[in-house]
Amino acid sequence: MKRALILSTLLGVCVAIMSLGAQQAPGGGREGGQGRGRGPGFPPVSAPEKVAENLYMIPGQGGNTAAFITSDGVVIVDTKLANNGQAILDQLKTVTDKPVTHIINTHTHGDHTGSNDFFPASVDIVTQENTAANMKKMPAFEEESKKHGLPDRTFKDKMTLLKGKDAIDLYYFGAAHTNGDAFVVFRNIRVMHAGDVFANKGQPLIDRNNGGSGVAYPETIRKATAGIKNVNTVITGHSTVMKWQDFADYGEFNKLFLEHAKASLAAGKTAEQAMADFKLPEKFKDYNIAGGRGGPGGNFNVIFEELKAQK
Ligand SMILES: [Zn+2]
Repeated sequence: MKRALILSTLLGVCVAIMSLGAQQAPGGGREGGQGRGRGPGFPPVSAPEKVAENLYMIPGQGGNTAAFITSDGVVIVDTKLANNGQAILDQLKTVTDKPVTHIINTHTHGDHTGSNDFFPASVDIVTQENTAANMKKMPAFEEESKKHGLPDRTFKDKMTLLKGKDAIDLYYFGAAHTNGDAFVVFRNIRVMHAGDVFANKGQPLIDRNNGGSGVAYPETIRKATAGIKNVNTVITGHSTVMKWQDFADYGEFNKLFLEHAKASLAAGKTAEQAMADFKLPEKFKDYNIAGGRGGPGGNFNVIFEELKAQK
């Protein structure tokens, strides 16, 4: 019973992310020619987009990968679905000859950690500590030959990797998409990878089986916007590169989403009804919440379950 529930919820998350990927396939998505065994619903791994000096975003085949070229090598953030390691490397070679030295995973999901094991064991893998615990439970890392794809180092609330202009600050502010979402800040160039806490301008993706929380979600983003300074640009989990203000606005959107969920539940409405009469202020007019995730009730289903369990 419990296993079936976990499976169906996990599938829900995957399907939601996949339809998102399909929806947002970049127009000029170039065929890399290397990404065999790719997941359905996602565009292929495509050319690096320059985000700032020495920082690139490589889209496709799952979450956006960031590649930060430091003095000693390349730090990559998120490794997409399984079997995309070579495609990531091929794209990387178009901008640098340096080897990959570090991997940071923003969270546990297979579309962000799937190609960790492609990289040699000498690559230093860093995650938030709850994500490391979640990853250890994943079937993908069960086999002995895959275990080197698990984290080598973890942090709880904050950690700084590398020094000087290469410094990367890792932050954790509480549950949102999962219970181990890291915000990755490239300090010198003022860019943050937000992972799936900010996957796109749409309904929050909440994976309760990995400790995600729609109730904590807005507060976690509020803490992040208060605690992280000097960031101008944000790499989203699955969409385009955005501005810091877009991330702050996403916190406000999530607050409205939660407040509407609470009010709707108190009024005895179903998740479907809540979704149907969720109205947004003008500033969110470019948000795409239509269609919902997890059926017509969208993620109100997930928040309702969480709110009911709290009573
Ligand atoms: Zn995710």
